[in-house]
Amino acid sequence: MEGEARERGDVTILRRHFGAAILAAFLCAAGLSIAAPPAAAPGASSVSDIRAWTNEIYTRVAIDTGEEVSWQANTLRADPLLGLPPRIFIDIRGAGIRDEILRKPIEVRNGLLRQVRAGRFDRDTVRVVIDLERESTYRVFALPGPFRIIVDIDGDGEIPVLPPSPDAVAPPGPVAAGPSPEVPPSVAPPVPPPAPSSGPAAPVRKHRVRVMIDPGHGGKDPGAIGPTGLKEKDVVLAIGRRIREKLAGSGEFDVRMTREEDVFIPLEERTAMANKGRADIFVSLHINASRNRRAEGFSTYVLSRGASNREDLELAARENGVPVGKLQGVKFIIDDMFTGARKNESLRLAKTVNDAVVRQVATRYPGAQSLGLKQAPFYVLVGARMTAVLVEASFISNAREESRLRDPSCLDGIADGVVEAVRYYGRNGILAHSDF
Ligand SMILES: [Zn+2]
Repeated sequence: MEGEARERGDVTILRRHFGAAILAAFLCAAGLSIAAPPAAAPGASSVSDIRAWTNEIYTRVAIDTGEEVSWQANTLRADPLLGLPPRIFIDIRGAGIRDEILRKPIEVRNGLLRQVRAGRFDRDTVRVVIDLERESTYRVFALPGPFRIIVDIDGDGEIPVLPPSPDAVAPPGPVAAGPSPEVPPSVAPPVPPPAPSSGPAAPVRKHRVRVMIDPGHGGKDPGAIGPTGLKEKDVVLAIGRRIREKLAGSGEFDVRMTREEDVFIPLEERTAMANKGRADIFVSLHINASRNRRAEGFSTYVLSRGASNREDLELAARENGVPVGKLQGVKFIIDDMFTGARKNESLRLAKTVNDAVVRQVATRYPGAQSLGLKQAPFYVLVGARMTAVLVEASFISNAREESRLRDPSCLDGIADGVVEAVRYYGRNGILAHSDF
C-alpha cells in the first residue's frame, strides 16, 4: 500500500470526541490484540470479505478472516498537506487477502465515512483502512466462528454521559461460570405499574417509535430442534410476523424485521440493521433448549459480559454459534456509551416483556413458567445503540412446550406479550421522556 508507510510515524488517537469510557474501550481493544494468541501460519487465514452498513451517524464494518488472526487497531489524524482524511486502520498479521478486495475499495461518502480500502502493508501484514469524513469515536472487537473483526463508528455528536461503571474498570477475564458479581439480583429496576389513562399525556414525538424485530437463526441455521422436529427458526419467524402485524396495525409504531423469510443473516448484521435503521427498540426472538428435557419456562435477556450460571453460558454459546470455550475467550467491548446508557432501559423492557409474555401465554396454557429477567453475552446484542432485549420463549427441547409451540394460539400469546410490553414501554419508558 503505497503512501501508507509515511503514516507510520504519525500514530495518534483521535481525541476530539474521546471520553474516558471510549478511551478505556479503545485501550481494551488494543490490549486484545496484544493478548491474542499468535497468528496462524501465513496463508492459513485470509481477508475474504469486507462488509459495511452505514448511515451518516453510524457505521459498522465487518472484516472476515475465517480463521482467528492477531490484529491491532489504531487511528491517524487528518493530514491536510498530504490530502489525507482522519483514518482508522486495522493491521492483521499473518493473513492473506483476496485480490478483488485489494482492487476495489468500498466507496461510501455519506458525511461520516469516505471509503474502506485494504492493502498489504508489509510482507506479513494486511492493513484495512477506513477513511473518515470527520473525526469520530469508534470501537473494535472480534467475534469468532468464523472469525471477523467488527469496527463500530459513531458520528453522532450527542454522546450520552455515562456514570462510572464498575464493568469499565474491571480487568477483562474469561467469563465466569459461577455466580457473577455483575448480575446482582437487585440489578433490575422495579417496573412501575401502568399509568392510569387519565395521567399526563406523553410529549409529541418527532417520529413514530421504531421497533426492529429479529427472528433468530434462519436458512442454513435451524436453531434448536425439538424432539419431534420443530425448528426454532420457523417458530420465531411465525412469532415475529405476528408481532409486526399486531404492532403495525395501530400506526403508532414503525416496525421492521431483520428477516421476513427463511434466510441466514449473520448476528453482527442484525445489530447493524437495527443501528442503521435508527431503531428505538430491538427485540431478538429465540426459543430455548436444554439437555435436561424437563427444563421449561420463559426468560428474557439483556447483554452482559458474563453469565450468572452454566446454563446461561451454554445458551449464549449456542445462540452465538460458538463452543463455550470460544465464548469464554472473547472479551467484549460492551461498556461503550450506547450499550451502557441503555442498559437500565433494556433491563426494564426485558422485565416488562417477560412478565407480559408469561401472562398472555398463561391465559391459554395455565401454569406457564417464568424464569425471569437474565443477562448473558449474546453477540446479537453487542453494539446495539438502542434498548435491546433477547426473548427465550420456552423450551423447544421440552416435549410439552414443543407441542405448545405448534399451536397458533400459543404463538399469538407470545406475540401479544411482546406487543403489550413494547406498547407500554413506548408510552411510559424512556421514550416518553426523550426529546426526539
Ligand atoms: Zn436461538
